[in-house]
Amino acid sequence: MLYPELRQEVCRMNQELPKQGLVVWSGGNVSGVVRETNHVVIKPSGVPFEELTPENMIVTDLDGHVIEGDLKPSVDIDIHLYIYKHRLDIGGICHTHAPYSTSFALLEQPIPAALTPIAHLLGRSVPCTQYVIPASLETAQAIIETIGDGKAVLVSRHGPFTLGKTPTEAVKIATYLEEAAKTIHLAMLRGNVTPIPDEEIDRSYNWYIRNYGQKT
Ligand SMILES: [Zn+2]
Repeated sequence: MLYPELRQEVCRMNQELPKQGLVVWSGGNVSGVVRETNHVVIKPSGVPFEELTPENMIVTDLDGHVIEGDLKPSVDIDIHLYIYKHRLDIGGICHTHAPYSTSFALLEQPIPAALTPIAHLLGRSVPCTQYVIPASLETAQAIIETIGDGKAVLVSRHGPFTLGKTPTEAVKIATYLEEAAKTIHLAMLRGNVTPIPDEEIDRSYNWYIRNYGQKT
């Protein structure tokens, strides 16, 4: 079986989505890419999270042909493939309908970089696309146009897509983004929320990259 470790990571990260309160039922999806072969590992469509196993993940090429797997890949596969083709710097994608993040998408408002943890992680506010037809090429194009070289974007009236070096990083960003969206929403009920000034976001982001975690 191809890519046992990536299958395991993609399966575990998909199962993390309901645990973190980012999706319900079988919604949302996580994938990872193998750049050496241009193969993508993604969850199968419509299978409940508790039934996901590393073995039933689907492997496709970047044109969407199934290389390994008996089930149909996630309905958002074409969006994941388009993002991998246009963002060669990333290795994982996470898509959810997390309610607080998606409430900003519903209003077509960005999630402002108003909290330092989000400034550390993303280095900017999270922009929102204009309305696009769900699960279409138009959605994929709008994501790439709107996200630029960023790590997170909201699809209007739908939900966030987050990009990481790995599937694990993409899910981590989605989880922290949802926490920030919730906190910002609560603060907005009581006052005016303003973004951190750009220079301070840049300083803070660069400091975090240099200092966070255990350096090897
Ligand atoms: Zn969706």
